[in-house]
Amino acid sequence: MSGGARPGPERRPQSWVGVDPMLGSVVVTADEIARRVEELGAQITLDYAARPPLLVGVLKGAFVFLADLSRFIELPVEMDFMAVGSYGAATKTSGVVRIVKDLDLDLSGRDVIVVEDIVDSGLTLSYLRKSLLARGPASLAICTLLLKTGQQQASFDVDYVGFEIPPDFVVGYGLDVAERYRNLADLRVYVGGEPE
Ligand code: 5GP
Repeated sequence: MSGGARPGPERRPQSWVGVDPMLGSVVVTADEIARRVEELGAQITLDYAARPPLLVGVLKGAFVFLADLSRFIELPVEMDFMAVGSYGAATKTSGVVRIVKDLDLDLSGRDVIVVEDIVDSGLTLSYLRKSLLARGPASLAICTLLLKTGQQQASFDVDYVGFEIPPDFVVGYGLDVAERYRNLADLRVYVGGEPE
């Protein structure tokens, strides 16, 4: 690039958000998310100092979180992605989990951190955990940006949690309804009905 140093771009106002009747109150602001993601990155850096982890992002919802989190981990991490389906376009869990896209990398002997956007019933993660543990990783930890309080039907440990939130359906920061709202900077309640 030529010329002197330029200030970074300001965060866009996202003025379209204010006129969308499907969007309710802000649950977590972009600034709160940024601060917490930095803390999580620092914690993971400490915990994995001698053994850089393989980050497994669960598509699509975790892509924004993983992109930010990985840049706050001061270690030579590797990344891979998998896609699972449990919701389709509906806002209620179906309880059915299937792998839509599997990992490219071999997990055997690796220190793996699964990076999720949100744990609701826990069915998705409990299935994923079982499936990934069967591949012989040295260790398997779970990092989720959001945990809905009191909703879990499956019991398991979540090692890193960004925020515990009430059981409303939320969108933004990677989370969607029928592929929309992933680019919202804040996390908001979705107040619309079931998407078509
Ligand atoms: P679980 O299996 O824990 O019930 O659901 C996990 C998955 O459901 C998440 O990875 C996410 O894709 C979806 N999900 C659960 N709660 C919400 C929510 O409040 N908003 C959105 N957009 N997706 C959710």
